[in-house]
Amino acid sequence: MLLDNLYILFFLFSFAFIKWLQHLLHRKMHPKIIPLSVNYHFTRKCNYECGFCFHTDTNSYIAPLPDTKAALSLLALAGMKKTNFAGGEPFLYAHHLGELVDYCKDILHLDSVSIVSNGSHIREDWLKQHAHNLDILAVSCDSFDERTNIAIGRGKGTHIAQLYRIANWCRTYGALFKLNSVINRYNWQEDMNSHIAKLDPYRWKCFQVLLVEGENDSEQTKRDARKFTILDEEFEHFCSKHRDNPCFVPESNKLMAKSYLILDEHLRFLDRSGKAPSGSIMEVGVEKALSSVFWDMDGFKERGGIYAWNQDQIEKSKEEAEGQNLAATKRFGLAVGDTCGGSQSGEAVDMEDIGSKKTL
Ligand code: SF4
Repeated sequence: MLLDNLYILFFLFSFAFIKWLQHLLHRKMHPKIIPLSVNYHFTRKCNYECGFCFHTDTNSYIAPLPDTKAALSLLALAGMKKTNFAGGEPFLYAHHLGELVDYCKDILHLDSVSIVSNGSHIREDWLKQHAHNLDILAVSCDSFDERTNIAIGRGKGTHIAQLYRIANWCRTYGALFKLNSVINRYNWQEDMNSHIAKLDPYRWKCFQVLLVEGENDSEQTKRDARKFTILDEEFEHFCSKHRDNPCFVPESNKLMAKSYLILDEHLRFLDRSGKAPSGSIMEVGVEKALSSVFWDMDGFKERGGIYAWNQDQIEKSKEEAEGQNLAATKRFGLAVGDTCGGSQSGEAVDMEDIGSKKTL
């Protein structure tokens, strides 16, 4: 009898041990994906008509505010630390956007909340009201010659004046001002250095124009960006002309293509290999939605997707860089790197740094 019981106990223990090993093996082979940084394109509507746009307005749906807040809460529980609101043009829904920005900081306490906008609908009042909850405001501008902006489809000739206004408002109300430029056939030879020095963005991201299958790559799609494309050497030519700006961050086609984790207006993750989107995270949950789509997490890290993305982290990376400078000066009589908050060397922080800054 005792032997029988021992045998059963041994059998149960072995069974549990094998199950545990299987679980460990599964986790090793399919590590849990953490949606650290999510780009939420909550609308496809836009008042501009950039010829290379690949988030074209095939519909004008936006999810109701309560659903959106619930979805953001689910993402925060799954590990999201940074969210970026994008479109379309997010400021076409300024009230909705303000509610989301405040919710992400006041309720979810995210490390970083940012917005990418074409700038045309940004108003000083909005920044006065919400900038304290906004880490980064990125505005797109591809040229400092309005004729080029008009040819591209970015506005009707008032884009640059508005860009300068926004940069000043950001300084006044305490959000970091970032600039995004798409380098394409119309602007790759332009010298933008003097304007960048005057605007002094914290980060200037320059993307090589991108063709996205089924979105902007033929006469059948709403936009046909083929006439905007440039060779890699032409992108490199632009980069070499502007690389001395400490805020300059180039992003080639190769890195850009699949490395952004994108939530669309229906609260679905987009598959970055061209397959169908996931189910809505409100219906299937974050983990299942993430596991059903492809997202290039290595590319995300490679393109510097994890960086000092709020003012505290920038201060920290500045102090670290200054510390390195001091140490190097003491040891070799030399200063290393650049201590500007917008420099690439100053921006880089480890995955571990971010992970240890638990705010939830
Ligand atoms: S401003 Fe942005 S969303 Fe609007 S058309 Fe241009 S690229 Fe597309």
